[in-house]
This record gives sequence, structure tokens and C-alpha cells, in this order.
Amino acid sequence: MIKKKFNYRLLVQIFFFTLIAYYAMAKSLAEAGITLSWLVLPDISLHTLCPFGGVATLYSLLTAGELVRQIHFSAVVLAGIIVVLSIFLGPIFCGWVCPLGSVQDWISHVGHKIFKWRYNAMIPKKIDFSLRYARYLVLAWVIYVTAVTGQLIFSDYDPYYALFHFWTGEVAPIGLGILIVTSLLSLIIARPWCKYACPYGAVLGLFNKIKIFGLKRQVHTCISCNRCNKACPMNLDIAHANSVRDTQCISCMECTSDNSCPIPQTVVVVVGSVKKEGK
Ligand code: SF4
Ligand code: SF4
Repeated sequence: MIKKKFNYRLLVQIFFFTLIAYYAMAKSLAEAGITLSWLVLPDISLHTLCPFGGVATLYSLLTAGELVRQIHFSAVVLAGIIVVLSIFLGPIFCGWVCPLGSVQDWISHVGHKIFKWRYNAMIPKKIDFSLRYARYLVLAWVIYVTAVTGQLIFSDYDPYYALFHFWTGEVAPIGLGILIVTSLLSLIIARPWCKYACPYGAVLGLFNKIKIFGLKRQVHTCISCNRCNKACPMNLDIAHANSVRDTQCISCMECTSDNSCPIPQTVVVVVGSVKKEGK
């Protein structure tokens, strides 16, 4: 029986979720005239703390030298920091930081309890495979409408924005609907938003192809038990791969020998790419 190490990822996820939730609530209180005297908040919106805003505004920044409305330059800086992190570790933001990803993970624990082995295995493979391209269409649409309108239209549809504003009355019904559908789907599929719709995940996932620290499976010690596959929220086939370079990997590290693989040093993080990539 594998002995699970301390869950650092959960700790990091709770930290970032609490930070953003606390900031969003304190902002709402401040807008209602209630200030927390022991907390000094910079006068910025939540968009300022969303690195995807930095990506969405990139076209305007490069062509017109200006940011779209609602976006602060700090979002561009954050986006830059996450790009650097992703070059080293892949989409670590998705697996460890994004509060919407964390909420889906937490709901998935309930889904696991209800559906047991059927959890995250109900969508037919062909449909699942095709749906995973949808997030690139969403990304193209977001960049296009942001460039054309000069506004962050996506915030009306963004479940991340809805998650931290649903009590304010500022959230568009469609955003709220997408948040509810994402939460319900998380009861049967792990990370449905990340897999099928997240435009930021689409961007960060590409870094899996070039990341400096990648996951490797040591073929000679693997006992083909498939536990790594069962642990992977993104349904990746680690058990038959030499390395993980799939654009859907969220760098959560759940498949590693520190977490799910029962054989020490079998699924490990290594520097550099592996010559032969298995599937
Ligand atoms: S391959 Fe491993 S690190 Fe990547 S998403 Fe699956 S479990 Fe997480
Ligand atoms: S969990 Fe470890 S031993 Fe089992 S199939 Fe995956 S890599 Fe092999």
C-alpha cells in the first residue's frame, strides 16, 4: 500500500483560493461602505489578479500599444510570470493555483465517492477526444472579440469571475450558468472546464511540449498496475508512455511515485525531454 506524502498541492490550492475569495469579499464590503481597517486593499479589480486578462489583451497591446478596458498592467506582469513558470514546469498554474481548478478538484472528491470506478470514465472516448479541441476555439473567439471590441467580453462568460462575484449581482446569467454546469459536471468528470473549455488552459497546455522539467515513467520498474492512469484527472495514459508531454497535462503531479505510483522512483520529474515519447 503506497504511503501518501503530505498533500502540498492541496495546501497551495487552499492558500490561493482563500486569498482570492478574501480579496473579492473585502472588495465587495468596501464597495458597500464597510472597510476592514486592518486590511489595506489596493484599488484594483479581480481582473487585475487574473493572468488570462494579460493574454486576452495581448493583441491590443501589440497592435495599438494599449490595454483593453478593465485590464491592469499587473495582469500582463502576472501572465509573464506564469509563462516563465510554465517554461520550467508546464501548466503548474492550472494544477496548483487556479481557484476554479481547485473547486473542480474538490467537487470531484464527492463524485468519486458517488460513482466510484465509473467517475471520470463515463464520456465515450471518441466524444471526449473531439471535445478537447473546443478550448482552442474558445481561445480564438476570446482573442478575436477582445481585439474587435476592446473590452473583456469574456468576463460575462467566465466561471472564474462568476465564482468570486456571484453574490454581487454583477455576474451575467450566462457566466453563472457556466459556473453551475461546470460544478455539476465535476460530479461525473474531473476538471470539465479545464478539459473542454478553458482558453487559458489551452495556452498553458502548449508549454507541456517544451517544459524543462517533465514527467518520465521508468519503464524497467513499472509493474503496469495502471494506478497512475486512474489518478490522472485529465485521463492521460501515463502507464504506456515514456514521458508526459500531452497538452492536457496540468502538472498536478498526482501520477508520480510521490502520490499514486506504488513503485518508488518510477514516475518522476526529470530535466529535459525524453528522446522517445510513448503514447
Ligand atoms: S499526467 Fe500526471 S501531472 Fe499530468 S495531469 Fe495527469 S496526473 Fe497530473
Ligand atoms: S502507477 Fe507506476 S507502476 Fe503502476 S502503471 Fe503507473 S508507472 Fe507503472
